[in-house]
Amino acid sequence: MEKVAVVHYGEIGTKGKNREFFERKLIEAIRRKTAAKVRRKFGRIEVEYKEGLEKKLSKIPGIRYFGVGFKTNLNIEDIKKAALMALPKNFETFKVDTSRSNKNFPLNSIEVNREVGAFIVEKTGKKVDLTNPDVTVWIEICEKEVYVYSDRYEGVGGLPVGVAGKVVALISGGIDSPVAAFMAMKRGCEVVAVHFFNQTMHSPKVREKIIRLAEKLAEYQGKIKLYMVPFRDVQFEIINAVPPKLRMVVYRRSMMRMANIIAEKEGCKAVITGDSLSQVASQTLDNINVIYSASRLAVLPPLIGMDKEEIVAYAKKIGTYEISILPYEDCCSFMVAQHPETRAKIEDVVKYESFEEIERRAVEESEILEVEG
Ligand code: ATP
Ligand code: MG
Repeated sequence: MEKVAVVHYGEIGTKGKNREFFERKLIEAIRRKTAAKVRRKFGRIEVEYKEGLEKKLSKIPGIRYFGVGFKTNLNIEDIKKAALMALPKNFETFKVDTSRSNKNFPLNSIEVNREVGAFIVEKTGKKVDLTNPDVTVWIEICEKEVYVYSDRYEGVGGLPVGVAGKVVALISGGIDSPVAAFMAMKRGCEVVAVHFFNQTMHSPKVREKIIRLAEKLAEYQGKIKLYMVPFRDVQFEIINAVPPKLRMVVYRRSMMRMANIIAEKEGCKAVITGDSLSQVASQTLDNINVIYSASRLAVLPPLIGMDKEEIVAYAKKIGTYEISILPYEDCCSFMVAQHPETRAKIEDVVKYESFEEIERRAVEESEILEVEG
């Protein structure tokens, strides 16, 4: 009896004509991540079991949940044997939960539940509890095979990476932006990560921190391209030209323009930020208008409606929080007013701006890394 994982996806199943494309992307992602044999079945994906598979599958966007257990033949005796094998060592109560997509199977779901349940009681002496069992034995009766398992895991959900196209995600090293990048991945985007850093004030530790964040994100996406854009020269030009109160907004506009240059090079169709409305001075509606209008591409802030606590909880869940809270200085806090403008007006800002040349050069001088999870 072969040990396998049976993978279920959510929304992909409802995408009509695109369904095959979505399934293929998900299968590619599973193959890349697990190096296991992956087979497409009707409405599900079967993965050959290898040590550590659970951890890997639970990080692949597009997977809603999966079971780990056994594949067996379309007959009730084999299903019973598989059910015994799928049971954990320690439990007192159980139930059997059968779904049958193969309507030619001679027993219906309720009959299978009864037969297998009675068999388990007979062999183990354990009790059935339909409302709050210690263990559930899931049985999926498909066209050519039956899956039987009692280990079931939640996946990330969402859509396979790449089905929505590519985006640039601005990663600051704070708590928010890695979560935002993750959200974009979860909706099918392939993320190109971009960080702007001031070489003089930032120690190698910051570079290391950003790389570690990218590595964490790569556990979900697979390989990530990371641009480390030197921001110092641009920043000094801005300091020279712009009054302190407006510098924060101009830094962010400058980042937008550079993000657009990178997007063009990489074929990306939007810019992702970690902005959350009204969280800090740069995130008032007025400032967001002024900042985002520096971008030709759509700017998408997935966290816009989330509270800080919600974002922190998410960061902990995906594993970026511990890295994000490592101490570091934000290049944006360099030479800005203590109370930056919260109601910037576009006409007050653009008159200071003529940074195209130096921004282009900064992008050209980026360090480009391929980061693996
Ligand atoms: P975060 O927690 O992501 O740092 P924040 O709430 O501190 O966000 P800001 O520091 O104002 O907010 O930054 C808003 C967004 O701008 C960030 O989420 C990120 O997308 C982008 N950003 C800011 N600084 C940088 C930077 N140095 N490099 C790349 N992106 C940046
Ligand atoms: Mg920040």
